Amino acid sequence: MTEIQLIEQGKNNIYIKREDLIPFSFGGNKARKAILFFNDYDNGDYDCIVTYGSSSSNHCRVIANICSQRKIPCYIISPQESSKNTFNSKLMELFGAKIVTVPVCDVKDTINEKIAYLEKMGRKPYFIQGGGHGNIGTQAYVNCFNEILEFEKNSKILFDYIFLASGTGTTQAGLICGKILNNTKHNIIGISIARKNPRGRDVVIQSCIDYFNEEKIDIIQKNTIFVDDYIANGYGKEDNEVSLTIDDSIKKYGIPLDPTYTGKAFNGMLNYIQKTNIIGKNILFIHTGGTPLFFDYLRR
Ligand SMILES: *Cc1c(COP(=O)(O)O)cnc(C)c1O
Repeated sequence: MTEIQLIEQGKNNIYIKREDLIPFSFGGNKARKAILFFNDYDNGDYDCIVTYGSSSSNHCRVIANICSQRKIPCYIISPQESSKNTFNSKLMELFGAKIVTVPVCDVKDTINEKIAYLEKMGRKPYFIQGGGHGNIGTQAYVNCFNEILEFEKNSKILFDYIFLASGTGTTQAGLICGKILNNTKHNIIGISIARKNPRGRDVVIQSCIDYFNEEKIDIIQKNTIFVDDYIANGYGKEDNEVSLTIDDSIKKYGIPLDPTYTGKAFNGMLNYIQKTNIIGKNILFIHTGGTPLFFDYLRR
């Protein structure tokens, strides 16, 4: 259960759920997902991990760290196009992950070849999709949604809105599935950090469909709000306004945000609140982590 704290009392009450403080490897949504993936790993017959992501991937850093802790060989396929040195990539190296860097168009084939090769050598690879995508990742955020309900019950504070940074979509999908399962009234708003609509929203919807089944498609569609107005200059690229929001957050609240995910989403949320004239509401922002990226931001 991660903490929920009140950070702003003004036109609206803004709360923040500190997923970044999950106590392993700088936390974040990838840590919450990874714990469930490794439960699945333990329930099967596996002896190594294969996953993929860029050099700034929080997912790959957390997976590599669990592997180093448990002495599990970890293979990461990484696109050349985003392979600059970051604190996350330094950590992956420190954890001894075996990183294979190839052009982005070859990532898929390289993953398949690596898995086939390992199996040929008598190994039992467990594959995790980038970003911890898939039903297990979705389940992690159904669990998170249940924690939010628990907080509401104990505190008697009800959230009208839940905002979060939405990327590959399972974090948002998990929250939406949790909402549908519990039949609540929260407005869950994913702020896109890269993808445009309709694809961005479609991927979230598909993750929900995968988690349930086709029967719930209407209710899933009704509940999936994916806002693509605040992606600034694309994946991993902020604009000046996002930078100001990041600086503001650490100065005012002592909370680090990053340019790729949480800073963009928090800034998008503030804009969205203003644009749609939301007043007098309880708003929850999910801090999805990415603390090492905050330090990359400081170093520039
Ligand atoms: C991966 C990531 C996200 C996006 O999560 P998805 O489940 O891929 O949508 C948001 N914030 C941070 C810090 C992340 O690392």
